[in-house]
Amino acid sequence: MIYLDHNATSPVREEVVEQIIPYFREFSGNPSSVHNPGRAAQKGLDDARRKVAGLVDVHASQVIFTSGGTEANNLALMGVASKFDFKGRIITSTIEHPSVLQMCDLLESRGMQIVKIGVDEQGVVDLDSLEAAITPDTCLISIMHANNETGVVQPVADIANICRHRDVLFHSDTVQSVAKLPVTLANIGADMISLSAHKFGGPKGVGALIINNRLKFPGILLGGSQERGRRAGTENLPGIVGFGAAADLLIDGQKDYADFLFGLRNQLEEKLSNLVPELVIFGNNSERLANTTAVGIAGLDGETLVMHMDMAGFAISAGSACGSGRTKASHVLTAMGYDGAIGQSAVRISLGWDTKAADIDKFVMVFSRTVKQLQQMSAPLTMAV
Ligand code: PLP
Repeated sequence: MIYLDHNATSPVREEVVEQIIPYFREFSGNPSSVHNPGRAAQKGLDDARRKVAGLVDVHASQVIFTSGGTEANNLALMGVASKFDFKGRIITSTIEHPSVLQMCDLLESRGMQIVKIGVDEQGVVDLDSLEAAITPDTCLISIMHANNETGVVQPVADIANICRHRDVLFHSDTVQSVAKLPVTLANIGADMISLSAHKFGGPKGVGALIINNRLKFPGILLGGSQERGRRAGTENLPGIVGFGAAADLLIDGQKDYADFLFGLRNQLEEKLSNLVPELVIFGNNSERLANTTAVGIAGLDGETLVMHMDMAGFAISAGSACGSGRTKASHVLTAMGYDGAIGQSAVRISLGWDTKAADIDKFVMVFSRTVKQLQQMSAPLTMAV
């Protein structure tokens, strides 16, 4: 199987596995215990925290470990909302991950005003609408750095500037951009950013909210003093150690990794466009992550294409979802105006650390052949007379 679905999750890197295993065997204490095994566990936790902090260039005290990107996003939004007594306005975008959008729905049901800013056909948030939506009672703007479906990068530096001038807190979901772009809290210019280890070779079920230490708000998990009282519960130590190890692998190699991905993606897109001329690359004219290509071919069904590619030995994912027996374009493509046939045909190819140039060549060949077969199958039959 050739795995080209790194935006869903990236396989855990071997160096990371090796560092995790001792935390199941030798270092199995609880970091909160004062005895020797507890202190050894605490050391593992501290080391991992320093590595994650190093990746995004913050002090270790600014890292709140969570169960992943979803919890980090939930914590950022719920934390700020409770700080403001569930009053005021939160501005977000129509293309956010459901962990932001559904939390916004919950906060709206508790009385907050939620404004979702749209995007243009290239998938970029409209800055004029964003600025115009800010009211004196706006407490938070949450806009993702890079979109998980299209890879389109948002103008976070401009958004950070607007937030600074208007005295509004800024949260950015950087789950997909870490490792592919130089993400630090300062580069993004945000008060909070969300991370998830399994998107860049770490284990699943662990992530972090990185936070400006001046910002104080209540946690969403209560019942212990872990994470300086900001996230209660015994830490997922093996996961956190793996997160630290994956972060450490990136610290020196981030630029090379992005260049490597960029080369592969150019190879993929050039060859695909030549072999499938009717192919549309979503967000093609905007800045995109170096590893992500989302494409559509009007008339095909994205889920069917994914299934055929799976049978042929390639893992990619659909940018559409089947609901009530009918394939629908995703909320992201719908927001970009692709809610018709082209949106229903969307598939995402996302590359990562284990992708090879030869995999791309094999993929392109099989993909173009499969597209032709499906097009023939769906072409109207001409009746012989
Ligand atoms: N945010 C974005 C942009 C994502 O792509 C994902 C995962 O798909 C998440 C948040 C959620 O992260 P996790 O799977 O760690 O909960």
